[in-house]
Amino acid sequence: MGLAVRLSYGTLDELVERFAVNISRGGVFIRTRDPKPVGTLLVLELRLSGGEAAIRGEGVVRWIQAEDPTAHPRRAPGMGVQFTKLDDASRALVERMVELKERRGVAPGVVAPAPIADRPDGTPAPTRAPSAAIPAPPRAAATPTPAPAFPSPAQADLAAPHRAEQLLAGPARLDLGLPASPRPVARPSRAIIGIDLGTSNSCAAIVKDGRPYVIPSREGHNTVPSIVGLNARHRIVVGHLAKAQLLTNPKATVSGAKRLIGRAYDTPLVQEIRAKYPYAIVPGEDGAAAVRLGPETVSLEQISALVLGEVRDVAQNHLREEVNRAVITVPAYYNERQRAAVREAAALAGLRVERILNEPTAAALAYAYGRHLNQRVLVYDLGGGTFDASVLELSDNVYEVVSTGGDTFLGGVDFDGQIVDRLLAIWEERTGVPFPDDRVALSRLVDAAERAKCALSERAEFPVSLPYLALRDGAPIALEAVLTREEIVALVEPLVDRTLDVCREVLLAKGLGTKDIDEVLLVGGQSRMPLVHQKVAAFFGRPPSHAVHPDEAVALGAALLAHSLGSAEGVVLIDVLPMSIGIGLPGGRVKTIIERNTPLPARKQYGLTTTRDGQTEFELAVFQGESGAASECEYLGTLRLGGLPPGPRGMVKIAVGFELGAECLLTVTARELNTGREVQAVMSAREGAEAARRKLEQGGGADAARAQTGNFPAPGPGDVAADAGAGGAAVSNGGRALGGLFRKLFGRRPEAR
Ligand code: AMP
Repeated sequence: MGLAVRLSYGTLDELVERFAVNISRGGVFIRTRDPKPVGTLLVLELRLSGGEAAIRGEGVVRWIQAEDPTAHPRRAPGMGVQFTKLDDASRALVERMVELKERRGVAPGVVAPAPIADRPDGTPAPTRAPSAAIPAPPRAAATPTPAPAFPSPAQADLAAPHRAEQLLAGPARLDLGLPASPRPVARPSRAIIGIDLGTSNSCAAIVKDGRPYVIPSREGHNTVPSIVGLNARHRIVVGHLAKAQLLTNPKATVSGAKRLIGRAYDTPLVQEIRAKYPYAIVPGEDGAAAVRLGPETVSLEQISALVLGEVRDVAQNHLREEVNRAVITVPAYYNERQRAAVREAAALAGLRVERILNEPTAAALAYAYGRHLNQRVLVYDLGGGTFDASVLELSDNVYEVVSTGGDTFLGGVDFDGQIVDRLLAIWEERTGVPFPDDRVALSRLVDAAERAKCALSERAEFPVSLPYLALRDGAPIALEAVLTREEIVALVEPLVDRTLDVCREVLLAKGLGTKDIDEVLLVGGQSRMPLVHQKVAAFFGRPPSHAVHPDEAVALGAALLAHSLGSAEGVVLIDVLPMSIGIGLPGGRVKTIIERNTPLPARKQYGLTTTRDGQTEFELAVFQGESGAASECEYLGTLRLGGLPPGPRGMVKIAVGFELGAECLLTVTARELNTGREVQAVMSAREGAEAARRKLEQGGGADAARAQTGNFPAPGPGDVAADAGAGGAAVSNGGRALGGLFRKLFGRRPEAR
């Protein structure tokens, strides 16, 4: 909240002289009859009596003091506010005060008892010099917390009345320094880096002397954890610093943003993720999923921008030059909204996206670039959150995806989950008490499970040791267990089998068998598990290739594509639609319009007629998925076409065009043909997925009921204005002359490495 405190001093000099006793470098004691609860975040302004701001900053209430007129010296009510942020001028003023105090012999954070002489008229009491310096634990605080180095209530200048008042109506916006608008790119940089924006880790790579390599950070890490947190000082931390607080501050530490970015909040997938993650996932702008960090609702674009910014800094430090161009990889399953969100995140981080590249294609590039191969490969990508399998045909510099599929709920976290369950069973067996209902304890357990899993990729046994997980009769209880590779193999084998089911299905979709695959490329951290190697080798009848590094291949491939953009030897990338696109029908059904694995670019025309007499508006809900039921498909958006000329049912014809670009961007256009009149269509994804489905189930939004694939002429530019803001905002083209064709896009289903 915002708080303005009107002090009784007329000048800065008077303030420094008289208020110093209330202040230290760490914070300030504010006298008020209405102290805010401990932990309240404040945007703070200390003003002179004339109203001019003297000290501006942000802080958090650390302790409060109840009034006690009988105490000696008398205790006035108030609160100790710890500074979390001060502007430069305020910091300088605070410094002056602290120096003055030190000259007077009062150490910072030390109490100077003050005579109390509040005048009835509220004017300040005469100044007095502190007589002694004594330690300052905030003993009088109603809520005792460890003493920060700032004044205790006892030392406060109670003689100087001041008035605390609400500065702003409603919640204040603490400035966490989040990227809010695209950072302008002055001059395109020479260097173009490849970035693998991963679920768990992200990294950058570049080509030098014809060879790609992953750019190391100054600390020697090859990757930046894709984690953003708010630390105890209310500062945003990114990467390794954020990872360090994952266990101790799980509620203020956001990991796995890649699974959420570009998704609507009210989708089943987001709700499922919400139940699993300790931080708060909330509805953001336009119904998109967002996260809560301290007092702020932060978009996933902002979170990803912070990670991308960190990766960019690592690259700049290494290359010692400005970097503002990148090729960024995304899962093959990302839909257009997710891709657009990644582009936006990059812009916020000051990066121009030269190309969005699918991860399996990147891995294939890392494997085959410059080798003039003629092979059919399967990229088996098992990362932290999801599994993707893609078959690519490589022919010299042509990389053609022919079939792709995946499971958005199958990744390293599911492997960890199995081990967590095992550890919980051991806990109950050994302690006889339920596992504590404590987020930090659970985070420690999950962390231990993942460590054990990774260690057991290298060795046969691993000791898990977690002291102080809970208390029983005041005594700490630990979890000590030895896990064996054999034991976890039994636990996770069914998960590996599920990945092979997906491979089988991806091959079958193109009538291929395992013998038709020349090489299997393993990518994603979880594919390093020996069990995965064994089972993949048995399934394909050949060991997987060791030619690519599972953690680095995607970034290296992105760097190679970036390199090829500026060189004569270009590469040709051909992709397919990973999941079918269809339209909603009454009764909650979906009719497929463009089949999965259709090579891109692709386009399809669809003819519709009105279904009611005098109908002047029609709606078309667009879905993506393989199920015929809307409830099991991803809702992409609703095309809404208004201004139809009224006529008998069936007489007004509308041509709907679905067009998929090379980067899998879907454009849906609509054109009313009966009279040749131009009409305006508004495509809106503003209504949530559930609302769209409900409408279909109730028989609404059923204009596609009479749909037929017709020989309608293709809608041409200038006929229809169709619009919908990416991420859900409906945008009308308002007063603009009709004739602009607003393209609208959506995409398909999940998901992520
Ligand atoms: P990625 O999203 O590709 O970075 O993959 C991250 C996942 O890989 C996490 O679930 C990790 O626990 C897992 N992982 C990383 N290294 C290993 C390893 N050596 N053995 C098993 N799993 C691993």
